[in-house]
Amino acid sequence: MKRITLGGEHLAAFPSGVESAHVKLTFPLGKEKMVQPSAWEALFAKKSISTRPYTVRKFDAASGELEIDFVLHEHGGPAGNWAARAEPGDTIAYAGPGPTKLVDGAADWFLLAGDMTALPAIAANLEQLPKDAIGHALIEITCEADKQDIAAPEGIEISWLINAEPGRNQHILVDAVREIPWRSGVPAVWVACEFTAMKSLRGYFKDERSVGKNQLYASSYWKYGATEEEHKRVKNLDMAS
Ligand SMILES: Cc1cc2nc3c(=O)[nH]c(=O)nc-3n(C[C@H](O)[C@H](O)[C@H](O)COP(=O)(O)OP(=O)(O)OC[C@H]3O[C@@H](n4cnc5c(N)ncnc54)[C@H](O)[C@@H]3O)c2cc1C
Repeated sequence: MKRITLGGEHLAAFPSGVESAHVKLTFPLGKEKMVQPSAWEALFAKKSISTRPYTVRKFDAASGELEIDFVLHEHGGPAGNWAARAEPGDTIAYAGPGPTKLVDGAADWFLLAGDMTALPAIAANLEQLPKDAIGHALIEITCEADKQDIAAPEGIEISWLINAEPGRNQHILVDAVREIPWRSGVPAVWVACEFTAMKSLRGYFKDERSVGKNQLYASSYWKYGATEEEHKRVKNLDMAS
C-alpha cells in the first residue's frame, strides 16, 4: 500500500466529512507518464486518459490535504503503475467525491470485511462508529507489513488475514467471515473486495443470514483478471440481474 497525499488550490472546495466516499481519479494513458498541469487539457481532448475509483481515506480541510491509499499490485494498469511511480510534485485530475459508504451506527452490532482495496473505507468506517460499538472487522492483506493502526472501538475485534495472492485463494476471507459467530440483534454488514469473493459473501449474508437490504452494503471493488472498464461492465450486469 502506498499512501499519497494530494494537495493544491483545486482542493479548496473539497468537502469535509466524506471519508469512505470515493473520488474518480484520472490517470494519463501511455506508459502512465507523469503530467505537467498544463498538459491535462490536451490529454482529456485526446481521450488519452483512464479513470479509476479510489477512497477518501482522510481529508484535512485546514491543510487542504487529501489522503488516498493505493494498493500496489503486479498486474499492470494505469492507476497501480502511476501510484508506484508517483513522486512529490506530480499532478493528477479528480472528480467527486461521491456519497459516503458508512454503516448505520445505530445497529446492534457490526461486521465489516474486505481486502486491501477496501481497507481505507473499512478504517474510515471503524473510526466513526460509536465508542461502545461491538462486532468484527476482517481485513485481507498480503503480508504482516500491510497491517495498519486503526482507531476502532474496543469492542470491535479486528482480524488480519494474510493472502499473498489477492484475487486468488478467495476462501481465506470467505471462510473467516463464515466462521464469525452470528450475534443476536440487528447487524450492520459492510463488505467490499474482489468480485468473486464479494458475490460469495453477499450470497451468505442474504440467503443464509437473511440480512436485509438496508443493513447490507456489498460491493465489488475490482475483478481478478479484468481491467476496471471490464469490471464495471460485469458489475453493472450483476446489479441488473
Ligand atoms: C468504490 C471503490 C473504491 C475503491 N477504493 C480503492 C482504494 O482506496 N485503494 C485501492 O487501492 N483501490 C481502490 N479501489 C479499487 C481500484 O479502483 C481497482 O483496484 C482498480 O482496478 C485499479 O486500477 P489499475 O489501473 O491499477 O488496474 P486495472 O487497469 O483496472 O487492471 C489491470 C489488472 O490489474 C488487476 N488488479 C486491479 N486491482 C488490483 C488489486 N487491488 N490487486 C491485484 N490486482 C489488481 C486487474 O484484475 C487486472 O488484471 C476502489 C474501487 C471502488 C469501486
